[in-house]
Amino acid sequence: MSDDAITGVDELDARLRRGDPVILDGGMGTELEARGVPMNRDAWSAVANLEHADTVEQAHVDFLTAGADVVIANTFPAGLFALEAAGLGESFEDVNRRAVHAALRARERAAPDRPVAVAGSISPMSAGADIHVAERSRQELLAAYRRQATVLADAGADFIVTEMIQSVQWHGPAVEAAVETDLPVWLGVSAGPISEGGSVPPLNFAEESLDQLVASLVELPVRAVAVMHTDIDDVDGALDVVQRRWSGPLAAYPHHGEYHPPSWTFYDLAPQELVRRAQIWTDRGVAALGGCCGIRPRHIQQLHDALRGDD
Ligand SMILES: [Zn+2]
Repeated sequence: MSDDAITGVDELDARLRRGDPVILDGGMGTELEARGVPMNRDAWSAVANLEHADTVEQAHVDFLTAGADVVIANTFPAGLFALEAAGLGESFEDVNRRAVHAALRARERAAPDRPVAVAGSISPMSAGADIHVAERSRQELLAAYRRQATVLADAGADFIVTEMIQSVQWHGPAVEAAVETDLPVWLGVSAGPISEGGSVPPLNFAEESLDQLVASLVELPVRAVAVMHTDIDDVDGALDVVQRRWSGPLAAYPHHGEYHPPSWTFYDLAPQELVRRAQIWTDRGVAALGGCCGIRPRHIQQLHDALRGDD
């Protein structure tokens, strides 16, 4: 049913408050790669916003047709430093703006009669192994993230999801910049496997503590905390940590496969297996479910049918 008074983000917030299931999309960068779009060594799937905009839009359409309530614009790898390394620093605003517009057009095409929220993504990601935000000053990081957050908000994103946050020091400024906009913000953390000592580290930051990361960053006014770009087998351990520090809305959208920059190696995952895991996560209070890298529209379709089949 159409209800012009309900925007996608209002409905999203209402569902999250009630604990009703929200279906997220799957991995956009890997979806583009699966469709034959070249991945850039430095800016991964971000270049597609300029050169393969129709494929970006169609991937969003396919996730929406599968039943997603939320689509995340292809801005995850479109940070200033990644684009500068790719020789596209001057196109920074254009790349981000086009990504949001592709998601907004997909919503008009594929979901004109139901509430869908379009998120802009901010992450510290760059595909090239030789670009490290850790080489930047805090002020430089904050300024770059502010530029991206401002463009995403200006281009029409309903909310911002900060993705692959693994370090307070290096990635915290992304969350700070996002909450400075007037948009709702989700904190998306990535976790590695539980260590032999029983602690859960952020992904690829074995020396840091996920517990301390979450404790510190939920001090900022975030609306939800997501365990994302985390191996499907490591989500439960991460949720154990997050739920000790955060009692608000939760999201889980894991990945499945392996990243060998700039390409993703897909592992076969039966959609019903994602559904089985998602049902475990909903039972423990996770409201928003979807997928990250390696998770495709067919997975989201079965997730939707299992969790929202009454729609
Ligand atoms: Zn991912």
